[in-house]
Amino acid sequence: MVIEYNNNGELTMGGTSLKTVAQSFGTPTIVYDETQIRTQMRRFHEAFKKSGLNYNISYASKAFTCLQMVKLVQEEGLELDVVSEGELYTTLEAGFDPQHIHFHGNNKTKHEIQYALESKVGYIVIDSLEEIDLIDRYASDVVNVVIRLNPGVEAHTHEFIQTGQEDSKFGLSIKHGLAIEGVRKVKNSKRLNLKGVHFHVGSQIEGTEAMIETARLVIQWLKENDIEVELINLGGGFSIKYVEGDVSFPIEDGIAEITEAIISIAKETGFPIPEIGIEPGRSIVGEAGITLYEVGTIKTIPNVNKYVSIDGGMSDHIRTSLYDAQYEALLVNRNDQADETVTIAGKLCESGDIIIKDAKLPSTVKRGDYLAILSTGAYHYSMASNYNQMQKPSVFFLKDGKAREVIKRQSLRQLIINDTK
Ligand SMILES: *Cc1c(COP(=O)(O)O)cnc(C)c1O
Repeated sequence: MVIEYNNNGELTMGGTSLKTVAQSFGTPTIVYDETQIRTQMRRFHEAFKKSGLNYNISYASKAFTCLQMVKLVQEEGLELDVVSEGELYTTLEAGFDPQHIHFHGNNKTKHEIQYALESKVGYIVIDSLEEIDLIDRYASDVVNVVIRLNPGVEAHTHEFIQTGQEDSKFGLSIKHGLAIEGVRKVKNSKRLNLKGVHFHVGSQIEGTEAMIETARLVIQWLKENDIEVELINLGGGFSIKYVEGDVSFPIEDGIAEITEAIISIAKETGFPIPEIGIEPGRSIVGEAGITLYEVGTIKTIPNVNKYVSIDGGMSDHIRTSLYDAQYEALLVNRNDQADETVTIAGKLCESGDIIIKDAKLPSTVKRGDYLAILSTGAYHYSMASNYNQMQKPSVFFLKDGKAREVIKRQSLRQLIINDTK
């Protein structure tokens, strides 16, 4: 994505002045470069096409979803993962083909299972042995299922976003025999068709090693146990760049490495290569989105720190307090030298409500200026809350110099709409 200052010293995204966006639509607001989102999707497509394998790319809607986002996913020929009744509802309301929806979740309610079955989603990802019985009980037709494996592999990423290790609430453990029991149970059911297996080793993974290592383990396990599958889903977790030094997963080279490795593992083991699926979320929308805020109070504690407060906070930006995530900020309305290190703080009633602890900003930053926080396209709006009765921000897609509102700012009225009088 091209974020740069124009000749007037205003920060622009794909040529559009972000100062104008902030002034016209108010802050906080999340702004996406629509072209960038589409480009990411196309890059994954192209990379898989080169491999010659049968593949599917499924967007993990938890990263960011709304009707317009779902439409975009459909237009670009991706499938879609949902993990709750609400995500399924949003996807269906956008007119997405249910056949291309996959239903995930470690604790699907009975109601969710029924809803997924009625909606005729493409497949349900089994995450526990009990769930097999539940689906079997409610299914009236044959239903495709994919078993989520816990491969017992540790990916090098933040502990909270690591999911493939032995002690995890996700998946059926290969090492502890739950996975094979799951396969037997599915095969014993007349209504369940074992379409494939799935794993997801974690998020914000920079290299291909964890995925390849896990694919090897899974293929060997399938071969040893004589399990035939139409699909192996490798999950998501491809990294993005938040700050200098982070690596955006190299889509072209990375997918080439992964697919070549799978081809050679399959050859070694004599295993026929099924369709290969991936589930990127963050890498589709993360870098394409930024959050615009207006600067309010600036507090200098002599010889200690300078706090620059903005008009949002952990209600729309939880990842810093949740994961110690790092971000970069840019002054939107002037191109001044970033000559000072400050803390950018939110306005909510928590000391932990910090956006960036050590942000490089110009010392000229003052009340009324606008700041852009970069790489906030994934797990920001979707993790937003109404803490302190903050209204969820608006969201815009920018394309060809035009801003298209895709989510309106939450109104005050909406904050109390469910309250009884
Ligand atoms: C979260 C998740 C994804 C997407 O992860 P990203 O880091 O956003 O790519 C994909 N699959 C599963 C099962 C997930 O839980």
